[in-house]
Amino acid sequence: MIHALFAAPQAYDAAWTGPLTRAFAAAGLDVALSRDHAPETVDYIILAPSGPVTDFSPFIRAKAVLNLWAGVETVVDNPTLTQPLARMVDPGLTAGMVEYVAGHVLRHHLGIDAHLAAAPGAWDSTAPPLAQDRPVAMLGLGALGTACAKALVHLGFPVSGWSNSPKSIPGVTSATGRDGLDRTLAGADIVVTLLPLTPDTECLLDAGRLAAMRPGAVLVNPGRGGLVDDAALIAALDRGHLGHATLDAFRTEPLPEDHPFWHHPRVTVTPHIASATRPETAAGVIAENIRRGEAGAPLLHLVDRDRGY
Ligand code: NDP
Repeated sequence: MIHALFAAPQAYDAAWTGPLTRAFAAAGLDVALSRDHAPETVDYIILAPSGPVTDFSPFIRAKAVLNLWAGVETVVDNPTLTQPLARMVDPGLTAGMVEYVAGHVLRHHLGIDAHLAAAPGAWDSTAPPLAQDRPVAMLGLGALGTACAKALVHLGFPVSGWSNSPKSIPGVTSATGRDGLDRTLAGADIVVTLLPLTPDTECLLDAGRLAAMRPGAVLVNPGRGGLVDDAALIAALDRGHLGHATLDAFRTEPLPEDHPFWHHPRVTVTPHIASATRPETAAGVIAENIRRGEAGAPLLHLVDRDRGY
C-alpha cells in the first residue's frame, strides 16, 4: 500500500478526491490517499504550496513531492525540501492558458476595446490588419509558452519566442540570451510572458526593457507579477510608450484595492484566472509519477533546483 499525503487546503478535497482515486485505480496503483498520514509513513506528498505542509523534514521516506501547480517559486527554495520536486504539466491547465492568451492577443489585435467604447454613430470602417501583420513575442517556451505559441502560429501570427535553450517549433523564431531578449522585444506588437519567477527573471521587464518594446506595444502577463517592474510599467503606460497591459499575476495577490493597476485606463486586471490545474486531467499526471516512482523510472517534470524551475 502506497501512502500519498494530500497536502492541500481542505477546500481542494471535493474537486480532487474523486479524480485522484480514479486515476490511481486506472494506473493499477494501490494508494491510500489521506491528509492524515503520519509523516514518517508518507511515500509521496501531493502538494498545493498554499496547503498545510511547509516543513518537509519529517517526511523521511517520501520519494517525491508532486506539485499541483505549474509555478514552484514558493517551494523550490524551501531548505527543508530534500525530496525530488515535480511540477504540474497538465493538459487541462495548458488548454486554459492557450484560450486565455489567444483571447487576449486577439482582443488587442482586433482593437475590440475601441468598439466596446465606441459612441453611438461612430463608424470608422477601417478593418484591422491580418494576424500575419501583427508580430507576437512569447517570453518562455516551456509547456505553456510552446502551446500558446503554436496556437498563435495557427491563427497566422508571426511568433518569436525567447527561452533559456534554443527551440525548434514550426513557425516560431527562437532566441536566447539577453541580446535575443532585446531583439524579441523590439520586434513585437504584442509581448506575452510565460516565464517562471526565478532570481534570473525577477524584474526582467524593467524600465530599460519596457523602453525597448515597440511604441504602442501591448504586454500580456499571465506568468508572474514579479517578472515586471510595476512602477516602470505604469510609467511606460503613462507616457504612452506602451498601449496596454493585460495582467493576470501580481506581486501581491489578491491585488490590493488601492493598487494603481486597478485604476489605470490602460491596464486590464484579471484575478489570476488565466488558467488553473484541472483535477480530471491532472490526476493522471500525479498517478503516472507515482507509477514511475514505484517502478524506479525517472519522474516527469522534475524541477531543476539550481535553475529554480
Ligand atoms: P516551464 O518550466 O515549462 O517553462 C518555462 C520557460 O521559461 C522555458 O521555456 C524556459 O526555458 C524559460 N525560462 C526560464 N527561465 C528563463 C530565463 N532566465 N531566461 C530565458 N528563458 C527562461 O513552465 P510552464 O510553461 O509550465 O509555466 C510557465 C509559468 O506560467 C509558470 O512558472 C507560472 O509562473 C505561470 N503560470 C501562470 C498561471 C496563471 O493562471 N496565471 C497558471 C500556470 C502557470 P527552457 O525551455 O530553455 O528551459
